[in-house]
Amino acid sequence: MTRLTGTPVSPGIAIGTSQIILVQEIPVVKTSIAPEAASGEVERLRKALEATIGDVENLKERARSRLSEDFLAIFDAHVIILKDPALLRGAKARIERSGVNAEYALQGSIQDMVRGLMATDDPYFQERAMDVEGLHRRVQQHLAGPLPEKTTWTSGERVVILADTLTPSETSTLHNAPIVAFATEHGARTSHTAIIARSLEIPAVVGVKGLTKTAESHGTVIVDGLEGLVILNPSEAELAEYERRAEAYQRHRKAILGQARKEARTVDGTLIRVTANLDLTDEIGSALAAGASGVGLYRSEFLFLDHSPDLPTEEDHLGYYDRIAQAFYPHRVVIRTLDLGGEKYFHAVLDRTERNPVLGVRAIRFCLRQPEIFRTQLRGILSASKRKNLAILFPMITTLQEYQQASDHLEACKRELKADGVPFDEHIPVGIMVEVPSCALTAEAYAPLVDFFSIGTNDLIQYLLAIDRNNDSVAHLYDPMHPAVLKCIAHVCDAAAAEGKPVTVCGEAAADPMMTPLLVGLGVSELSMTPSSVLEVKNHIRNLSLRACQKLAKKALKARTGAEVAELVKTAVGGAKG
Ligand code: PEP
Ligand code: MG
Repeated sequence: MTRLTGTPVSPGIAIGTSQIILVQEIPVVKTSIAPEAASGEVERLRKALEATIGDVENLKERARSRLSEDFLAIFDAHVIILKDPALLRGAKARIERSGVNAEYALQGSIQDMVRGLMATDDPYFQERAMDVEGLHRRVQQHLAGPLPEKTTWTSGERVVILADTLTPSETSTLHNAPIVAFATEHGARTSHTAIIARSLEIPAVVGVKGLTKTAESHGTVIVDGLEGLVILNPSEAELAEYERRAEAYQRHRKAILGQARKEARTVDGTLIRVTANLDLTDEIGSALAAGASGVGLYRSEFLFLDHSPDLPTEEDHLGYYDRIAQAFYPHRVVIRTLDLGGEKYFHAVLDRTERNPVLGVRAIRFCLRQPEIFRTQLRGILSASKRKNLAILFPMITTLQEYQQASDHLEACKRELKADGVPFDEHIPVGIMVEVPSCALTAEAYAPLVDFFSIGTNDLIQYLLAIDRNNDSVAHLYDPMHPAVLKCIAHVCDAAAAEGKPVTVCGEAAADPMMTPLLVGLGVSELSMTPSSVLEVKNHIRNLSLRACQKLAKKALKARTGAEVAELVKTAVGGAKG
């Protein structure tokens, strides 16, 4: 029995059979081989390539019902790369002529291939170079020995995925597998992988040090997404205890599910709108079931990912947004314009050579440089706005000029649609995401111009505290309760209130029950979060009093550290309950 701890990122408790997914680098060592061993080495490599082709084909099958044909074509491209005769031929020549092992020979051939692809000016081929490197890793794993991982699922299985890290695209292909939980060695609460995990509504723990070294496939594992615990090969007593806890948690969920339709009002009657963050359109059902009063953030990056390597057309945009707008009508749905770049998903349109992309051409900066992509999306949103329940949100605004330029594009799109006779909501609300500290601190400049503010705490904290949101080595410093974060939120709320404009928080802090009384007390009127947290947060709000929250927020703004704020919250919430 081994107990490992990490950061809980998705609530619940699950018990299942472990399945390890490793994407870690395997060091390639050069060894000399005798001429008579050459044919054996070539055969070993051929088999590893074949096994990798099998993996890719399996992955494609698993992803089939989740992803569009355009996205599935990427898997076909991977098979073509692996079957490329030049790859095996080049490696074979190295093995025979230079007397080196298969691993080293393969590395040489792969490097040639990557260089060739990178030398083209075509971003599509440059993107394939990244794929080649990923496939290389996989072939090297097969050369290192048979993979413990199983590639097909049988019904009735309860699989717990254990991995060193999972890319967003890998995670999104897991939707149809019988996965009951996952745990990863790396990752932090706000990494996009964790966000997608919550959308699957299964318990997850990330940043579990030593996980992949200790765990074995096909063992029994407990994942406690409430406490941030992973128990490998639990004892009988532990199994019984966690089965009891899992059932108790399910009962609690069921009880609050009964309240899903009720709005979230504080005990003194203030309505707080609790809305959903959507990444994938197939989360619509779970968001509605949880009682979300609309969508506070639709991350449109996924739409672009689904269409990669092509770009979505205006009709594609219209189709997606229309579906969401209809599903949530009459509630409001906020479509955030493309936030590509930074640590987010790769797309052929991005510059891969950018040295510090989190501070680079990301989100609105990218869109203002690529007005055609931006305007196609804006026209799509406008065309889907006939029901008058859509709103537009511009991400990563840093200067007033950016907001003005983005608005000019929007106005131009409105004129074009009008000329074409396309009906749309002429007064579609427009808001900005406050996720850059400079924007928070100058919120009064934007307040008269925008219809609403939406605070993206994931990035705001990253930029304010200089903590990479995806780096688990600094995750312990990532603190939504840091007084500097609270001061920024307070500043935005005050500036917005002076103009009578509402403020939403749509970062992960919105789903943190410790943050709820602070955000409500600071003046936030809408909390938008992953659908799996909606029920809990609504339930929590119903036990809070606005006046007590305001008093708490006032005290918290005078605190010197996040720990002091946490103490204040514990005392206030404990007191409210008692
Ligand atoms: C945020 O930064 O808080 C946010 C909601 O946006 P994203 O997580 O997509 O960057
Ligand atoms: Mg953000």
